[in-house]
Amino acid sequence: MPAQTITLEGTFRLEQEKTYAHLPFDVPDGATQIEVRYAYSNRIGSSPLLTGGNTIDLGVFDARGIEFLNAGFRGWSGSERDSFVISETAATPGYLAGALIRGRWHVLLGLYKVAAGGCDYRVEITITAETGHQSTHDLPAPVASLPASRVEPPLAAWLGGELHCHTWHSDGDGSPIDVVNLARECGLDFLAISDHNTISSQLELAGLRDPGLILIRGVEVTTFKGHFNVWGIGDWVDFRVQRPDDMAAAIRFAVEHGAVTSCSHPKPFGPPWDYEDVTGYDCIEVWNGPWQMLNQKSLDFWCNQLATGKRIPAVGGSDYHRRHQLEETPPRAPGTPTSWVHVVGPPNAAAVLQAIRQGHISLSDQPDGPFLELRAGAELAAMGGDVLLRPEDGQLAIRVHCRRCAGNTLRLLDQRGVRFERMLAEPEEVVTAEIPVSQSLYIRAELRDAAGDMKALTNPIHLDSAP
Ligand SMILES: [Zn+2]
Ligand SMILES: [Zn+2]
Repeated sequence: MPAQTITLEGTFRLEQEKTYAHLPFDVPDGATQIEVRYAYSNRIGSSPLLTGGNTIDLGVFDARGIEFLNAGFRGWSGSERDSFVISETAATPGYLAGALIRGRWHVLLGLYKVAAGGCDYRVEITITAETGHQSTHDLPAPVASLPASRVEPPLAAWLGGELHCHTWHSDGDGSPIDVVNLARECGLDFLAISDHNTISSQLELAGLRDPGLILIRGVEVTTFKGHFNVWGIGDWVDFRVQRPDDMAAAIRFAVEHGAVTSCSHPKPFGPPWDYEDVTGYDCIEVWNGPWQMLNQKSLDFWCNQLATGKRIPAVGGSDYHRRHQLEETPPRAPGTPTSWVHVVGPPNAAAVLQAIRQGHISLSDQPDGPFLELRAGAELAAMGGDVLLRPEDGQLAIRVHCRRCAGNTLRLLDQRGVRFERMLAEPEEVVTAEIPVSQSLYIRAELRDAAGDMKALTNPIHLDSAP
């Protein structure tokens, strides 16, 4: 089998930091395998806390081209791997197997960090081809659906799950199946794996027979200046965002393809969301991993939007990556925090996503942690996420069902701050209160421990004035 190796070398300058380089190479007829290796000078890790060196991300596009939002995506591995292989039937995690179509491909280098002294890079591409070989394989296509769980209803109306975690298809250390099993062991009812910038983990999940929980398709679109999660579609969403317009267009692309989108960890070192004016996402991840890790900043980000009258749901996600995080204090595991969603009808991915859109979500610090259900209105039919007409007498009767909350403080808040507070002593309590709401845009509930750390959190019941 003849193979040819192409070497591409050069130097990036500091001014090119946080841009993308597309290095062209030609794939001949009869190609059966493409292997790409890369190396670069003064390499440092991808943590935003590390500076003074170079971090270069790696990916590849096939002969369908590199047009923004319409490119021939064939995989991405960030700075996790030094090499990848794609053949017609197999690929390195993060990359997509399938037809190796003839024409101009591009290695993608994402210049995440470039040091003042520049970055020398070297990319080696080895293409194996067979004379006369005719591919019978298709190009990779979006995963149309993931296998349904055969866990039988009745599942509770509130389902607990994980919306944000990673596998070895990006920078995690477990296979998708490992993470499915771990999530089930943690007692979760649903799971979205959201690998950075690649949909290859979905292909592996599509082959599972019975996952034992509800699987939701996911990807975390990871740009240089903000991340957003995409749930419920199999499409790859372009991450090569350079300007606010690009970010708005990428979110719009996902939404138009039917996704639910979530602004990930808008807090220092999240990394933060640097596109303040881009707000087209459907919800905000106010709680990412252990509460102490600056999640108050994400909560503030959300509350600032609520205070303008915007009605946008809060969600949580652990951002679990690696097994050693299970042993950390506090641990980061699937379900820390847990997003509890209130589903109506058969429990499946569509029902979970519908509940998220409606804001019917209550967050808890872990799967068996404290849980709050906020209710108000006629026959207490409205829950967090719903909209109520503000009562004429300005008094709103509220009920909070508190489970496993003893020793913590329940607070009811509006955009001005705390309107009601009570220390809870019982393992299960139903707290009722009359709250003056003539000035309130919404009422939401929080549970915090004596140190002030969040233990549980509801979405707001929003209040409308009479027309
Ligand atoms: Zn992220
Ligand atoms: Zn993440």
